[in-house]
Amino acid sequence: MSTFDDRVALITGAGSGIGRAMAVAFAKAGARVVACDIDKESAGQTAEEIGEAAVAVSADISDEASVAALTEAAIGAYGRIDVLCNNAGIMDTMALPADIPVELWERVLRVNLTGTFLVTHAVLPHMLRQGSGSIVNTASEAGIRGGAAGAAYTASKHGVVGLTRSVAWAHAKDGIRCNAILPGPTMTNIATNASFDPTGAARLGPVLALGERLAQPEQMADAALFLASDAASFINGAIVPVDGGWSAA
Ligand code: NAD
Repeated sequence: MSTFDDRVALITGAGSGIGRAMAVAFAKAGARVVACDIDKESAGQTAEEIGEAAVAVSADISDEASVAALTEAAIGAYGRIDVLCNNAGIMDTMALPADIPVELWERVLRVNLTGTFLVTHAVLPHMLRQGSGSIVNTASEAGIRGGAAGAAYTASKHGVVGLTRSVAWAHAKDGIRCNAILPGPTMTNIATNASFDPTGAARLGPVLALGERLAQPEQMADAALFLASDAASFINGAIVPVDGGWSAA
């Protein structure tokens, strides 16, 4: 019997990078997977790669109505949600606090922090009804450091760390755990088409260069799989760097 047999994992940002690796890893571990992405085609490709144990749902985590439809689709497909991986997120331009346009600040906070909140808020009632659940949030090294990304991304991921601890504390007695992974730089599509603020990029470059190497998305998925599993049954509110030692420098 696999670790996640009879369990359902809802994964946001499952069309690409870390989220796709998570979807595949949870399916291999026996879970049925709800692969959510704002990009319908890529979510569909992930579900297709997994086969009959997955459904694709196109949803925008930053939009409340879209999140309600996502949760409804997940419950409609499988009747329960045991694992929630709040993984979808976007980069900023590496702009420092004085330079970031307010519109970009609001967009990054809306997707990375409010989006994570909206999906958590919609899924928690189902986990409470079940009396169990495990949430794994994809934060970032920028969730605990000031110099790992631009101001908006840094603030948004610090917010995800705070939300992780709040959910962990609030629902420990309900059989619900909530932890976060902090990926170091990982080989994904997140920087594809990104344009960087030259001042911010120049200041952040030396910090980013401290990393030994880029991680593979599967290494993030393995960490999420462990945190969501019964092997981590007493780990709650943990903020776990997955960075090959980058943050230890
Ligand atoms: P990615 O761009 O390859 O994948 C992110 C996916 O999220 C995409 O498929 C995208 O369509 C989807 N998405 C974006 N906005 C969405 C929305 N509003 N609603 C639903 N889906 C949406 O990037 P990735 O690197 O795999 O990113 C996954 C998570 O990892 C993000 O939260 C990111 O901040 C975090 N992270 C990545 C790195 C890295 O170096 N790649 C480092 C630290 C943290």
